[in-house]
Amino acid sequence: MYQKLLLAASIPAAPAGFDDWKYMEPTFFLFAIPVVFLYGICIGSFLNVVIIRLPIGESLTKRASHCMTCGTKIRIIDLIPVFSWLFLKGKCHSCGEKISPRYPIVETLNGLLYVADFLIFGLTANMFIMCIFTSVLVVVGFMDWDTQEMDMRVLLVIVLLVIPSYFASELTIADRLIGAASIGLPFFLIGELTRPYAKKKTGEDVRGVELGDTILMAFSGLLLGWKAMVPSAFIGILFAGVFGSILKKKTGESKFAFGPYLCMGLYLGAMFGPMITEWYISRFPQPETYEYYANCILMR
Ligand SMILES: [Zn+2]
Repeated sequence: MYQKLLLAASIPAAPAGFDDWKYMEPTFFLFAIPVVFLYGICIGSFLNVVIIRLPIGESLTKRASHCMTCGTKIRIIDLIPVFSWLFLKGKCHSCGEKISPRYPIVETLNGLLYVADFLIFGLTANMFIMCIFTSVLVVVGFMDWDTQEMDMRVLLVIVLLVIPSYFASELTIADRLIGAASIGLPFFLIGELTRPYAKKKTGEDVRGVELGDTILMAFSGLLLGWKAMVPSAFIGILFAGVFGSILKKKTGESKFAFGPYLCMGLYLGAMFGPMITEWYISRFPQPETYEYYANCILMR
């Protein structure tokens, strides 16, 4: 088993694609999937802390995990992700107040998304980059859902990821710059153009597309390249249109967070975007086809 792990770890960083996992044996997968999942829910446990504490300005490290109602420090035994929540039946051991199901949901979600990253990218450098990006999306999505705001420090993690990604993927600098501008620029323009109208309507300085959403898409474009960005934005806007309107009807609330849907779009776009774009381009006649027809005409 140890040798197999070494073998898998020595696979060079391959470009994103479905071919990577072919190099690995099924037994390796049976062993690796639960490990990746458990790793994902442990990271998810930390993400919960980030989602709750950053917007209220609490330190991420200084204070031990505590009950949000009574403030009692959480026992070590109750810190196990997902399982502790199930064992406690979703209640604080000290005051008996309900603990939000959000905690196990975020943990499980992060675990499942890590498994998907692993299955798509294989055990490559790109997988690790994608896992960190996934967690950033989870944090940004839930934070925007809660507060309608995005934390710049979290968004900057995406820019930091561009450095290892530059060495691990085949994306060129041009791919990345076009990726940043392709969605970032239109979003910025829509935001600025709708600003006077939105101000008149709500009385607040708001935009049709908030600056946070624009920055998220621009930074992600630098990381993922344009081929991933166009489908990302398309899926995100589609989800926002469908789920957003259902939610609005249900709750009747006028406040609307675009971020969570953009994050879903970005996750799917990062995974399948380049494939979708390449398929779409291949639907159109290629330059070689034109040349072929031109030759046919000339021969006649
Ligand atoms: Zn409590």
